[in-house]
Amino acid sequence: MLELKNIAKQYVSGDSTVHALAGVSLRFRPSEFVSILGPSGCGKTTMLNIIGGLDRYTSGDLIINGRSTKEFSDRDWDTYRNHSIGFVFQSYNLIPHQTVLSNVELALTLSGVSRSERRARAIEALKKVGLGDQLQKKPSQMSGGQMQRVAIARALVNNPDILLADEPTGALDTQTSVQIMDLLKEVAHDRLVIMVTHNPELAEEYSTRIVRLQDGQILSDTAPVDDEELATLLKAAKKEEKLAEKLDKKAARAAKKAAKKAAKKTSMSFATALSLSKNNLLTKKGRTILTSFAGSIGIIGIALILALSNGIQLYIDTVQEDTLSTFPLTLEASTADYSAMMSAMTEVSEKTIENPDPNKIYVDDSLGEMMSSMTATVENDLVSFKKYLDEHKEEIDPLVSDIKYTYDFDLQVYTADGKVRVSPTEIFDNMGDMFAGMSDMILQSGMFNVMSEMLDNQALLDQQYELVGEGSHWPTNANEVVLVVGKDNRISKMSLYMLGMLDQSELEDVLSNLLQEDGTYESAHLQEYNLSDFLGKKFMLVNTSDYFTKTNGKYTVDGKEYPIWQDMRDYGFTDKNGAPLTQEQFITGNGTELVISGIVRPREGVTGTSISGVLGYTKGLT
Ligand code: ADP
Ligand code: MG
Repeated sequence: MLELKNIAKQYVSGDSTVHALAGVSLRFRPSEFVSILGPSGCGKTTMLNIIGGLDRYTSGDLIINGRSTKEFSDRDWDTYRNHSIGFVFQSYNLIPHQTVLSNVELALTLSGVSRSERRARAIEALKKVGLGDQLQKKPSQMSGGQMQRVAIARALVNNPDILLADEPTGALDTQTSVQIMDLLKEVAHDRLVIMVTHNPELAEEYSTRIVRLQDGQILSDTAPVDDEELATLLKAAKKEEKLAEKLDKKAARAAKKAAKKAAKKTSMSFATALSLSKNNLLTKKGRTILTSFAGSIGIIGIALILALSNGIQLYIDTVQEDTLSTFPLTLEASTADYSAMMSAMTEVSEKTIENPDPNKIYVDDSLGEMMSSMTATVENDLVSFKKYLDEHKEEIDPLVSDIKYTYDFDLQVYTADGKVRVSPTEIFDNMGDMFAGMSDMILQSGMFNVMSEMLDNQALLDQQYELVGEGSHWPTNANEVVLVVGKDNRISKMSLYMLGMLDQSELEDVLSNLLQEDGTYESAHLQEYNLSDFLGKKFMLVNTSDYFTKTNGKYTVDGKEYPIWQDMRDYGFTDKNGAPLTQEQFITGNGTELVISGIVRPREGVTGTSISGVLGYTKGLT
């Protein structure tokens, strides 16, 4: 239920004041299709923006579900905008370099929904507007009508109570306009749609109510809500609320908790903000920063040990070697320029102001300068560098323990039955809302890598690790991997979840239990496994490129035609002939077997270890 009570809005610029709205009172039904008509400049957009919480009224009141918004906090407004309102604009406002699917998904990242659910709901919304087969297209490859449908899908994906559309057909031809109107009419069956339009014919034909505005005031309203109807509507709303309250107590409590959680989470996660940046530049930077942070801890460690054990040169040498293998010298294709960052900060603070006025306070923008220097990346010419290393192999080899090359892809490893993806781990997707949007960031940090390429230096590996168990051996084949255990052959429960040996779906229960007020975590008694539960255990490795199938679709860029490839993880797996397969069938059919050939454990007294993941694999596999 939405009610505008004598809403006025003034814009003051200089010494002139524009009365964009001059006392507008309107009541809206929970589901109807309202068209707002009126000449340009009469306040239509202003009214829509105020209803949507994008702009504030100067006086009057906006009543939402019987509650005055006069006392609304910023968070209340955020929650209202993100959960109750969908917006459609004349100019679509899509993000050009992101796919249609990402554009729609993005709208959901503000409501704290898990990544997998986000995707499912975005696909569903796009199917609803008839674009189920265009998910991977970019907006620039679409017609205006199609782009507007994407925008409508984006507005609907949150399932808002109210859809606001500002001249949605303003840029479309008549035929396409009619299709959009049909869609909006359908949408208005179970929610309130308020549309601003220039086109009285479309308004007549499609909407259930027409409100005309002039000079910021209502000129006419074809179906106003009188006091009696308002009372009935409010009663019905209350009843619905009561009904919900009567629901199973526990379910209601859980729902409330979830709502509270969602309300709290109405913010864009860091990872989402990063993914917005073009080409994920910042994501890479995020990783760089995390890596160097971890690296500096390692370096501080070395410094400490050097300081403490001055004189025991041999010890220092091995410590250095071990520690450097944990935190190796890393060169990346692109990296942030830390020195530029530092100097930007010092420059700002050293800047002097000429003839400062002692009665003023001056603002310096060190944050902005730092940000801007952070976004300037340095590109390393790794191709030439590798060539140099290869050409000078003989001189360099004695100086290094190993040189490891990593490439910008993740090994895709599944359990032998193809049911659970082991790497990159799905564990954070299965932890519910709490980690929604964060999982990318966590994975990028590399802290939860399951698969880790081992140094190609057996002597150093032997120095750091010993083999555990009979028949356990270091890989002799590319498809062999080792399991890394800790002191006393310990393995974390987390690793067991990641390896698919414990059911990941339990994790969400464990977490939500902890979030209950009276929740406690009962640590299970010490569990034991046999070496044979791990030795010989098989996994399935899939090439990332095998996920993609070529479609018959084509798209053109600069006059050149390209085929469209689809990611089967989004569209469902198929065989070569297009017949549908389950994930299990696809993985077991296309995968290469990996097998645990050995179990290794850090030797006692070793200060640094080089295998960061749960499973170590060889350069040969890479
Ligand atoms: P409509 O959408 O009906 O064309 P608007 O709601 O955009 O009209 O604008 C109503 C009036 O308010 C116009 O006179 C416009 O110039 C003025 N106006 C709108 N936004 C602003 C603003 N941000 N600052 C100053 N004046 C504004
Ligand atoms: Mg307008």
